Amino acid sequence: MLAQRMSLFQTSGTSAARAAAKKAAEAGKTVVDLTAGEILSDLAPTVRAGAIAAIEQGINRYTDTTGLPELREALARKVSLETGQTWEPDEIAVTAGAKQALFNVAMVLLNPGDEVIIPAPYWTTFPAQVLVAGGKPVTVDTRASGYVPSIADIERALTPATRAIVVNTPNNPTGAVYDKHTLTALGELAVARDLWIIFDECYRDFVHAPHIHHPIVSLVPEARSRTLIVNAFSKSLALTGWRIGYLAAPKPVISAVKAIQSHTTSNPNAIAQHAVLAHLDGGDASFLNGLRALLEKNRRLGMDILSRLKSVPPPSAQGGFYFYLDLSSLADVDAMSAAPRTADDVVNALLAETGVAGVSGSAFGDPMGLRLSYGITHDKLALGLERLVGTFASWT
Ligand code: PLP
Repeated sequence: MLAQRMSLFQTSGTSAARAAAKKAAEAGKTVVDLTAGEILSDLAPTVRAGAIAAIEQGINRYTDTTGLPELREALARKVSLETGQTWEPDEIAVTAGAKQALFNVAMVLLNPGDEVIIPAPYWTTFPAQVLVAGGKPVTVDTRASGYVPSIADIERALTPATRAIVVNTPNNPTGAVYDKHTLTALGELAVARDLWIIFDECYRDFVHAPHIHHPIVSLVPEARSRTLIVNAFSKSLALTGWRIGYLAAPKPVISAVKAIQSHTTSNPNAIAQHAVLAHLDGGDASFLNGLRALLEKNRRLGMDILSRLKSVPPPSAQGGFYFYLDLSSLADVDAMSAAPRTADDVVNALLAETGVAGVSGSAFGDPMGLRLSYGITHDKLALGLERLVGTFASWT
């Protein structure tokens, strides 16, 4: 009954993990849900005030397809500040979250059979969107190089059909922050091999010292005409449900994105656009600083508890808000043991035995990874990770 393309992918693995946690909670289990791809926080007061003001002004109409002109201006100023370059409003499109920006990019760049290099473990939606657009995801394993792609491996994966490379730093799910050297090499490679760079920096505001986020266009200015910067307020303003993201890209790409978006969703929600604009105009960083402080405190707690895991190395958690564990050692457990062996087994056993919910690396192209979000309350995080460490100990 359904189109052939529906055989290529399913509902995202992260949504499925969230649903399993919810189901266990509804069945009466005390669940500590570490699956969230979002920070559990109140609404920013600046955003709340901006939305209320927009409603009171009676805002109810379509906006320009790619966003309010004032918002595009504010975003052009933001990207200019962040990259140290001048960006114009017509190099910006406002989208319904970063996800729509990425979807638009796949639709406007890819011809059938075009290959897109995606370092793995990857955020689950990257390959799915390439497939929707008729392209071919080509994954490059980063597990042996600290979750940062080796340039030699990327070069080996290039073919005449390669059209783009996804660069997601800070990375979901691994928490890796790509170093200056790697980003420079990736930018130069894209220039030399005539590739687009899809630069997803949704977690740019959450980087833990001494690591630093580098926009690739700042390191390799010649790559700017082939780079698509994707970002959103979903993570940095804890605003996942409001669906405001954006794309900063060369003007012809933005025009093409406008055409696609005009036939799909039209403009992103107008009230949410006004709210984010009010926030940007207010220039108040206290909310973001509060989120950073919460994450820093949670990260410290989590690193401390997870350091007690025996055969599982501690996560690096350089950026974002995920602990990513490498469970490879579990594959070697005694053949007689009933201990779980793959990340899927671990996730199922953890939820069943202790109510702790995480996301299996199989959602990210890594059957031996486990992602635990620490964007939740400090107490819940402590409870969840203590239970996890205890359960792992009982398996060995
Ligand atoms: N890019 C990455 C790397 C993400 O982790 C996410 C969300 O988890 C997104 C994009 C999508 O963000 P949004 O909710 O703004 O669509």
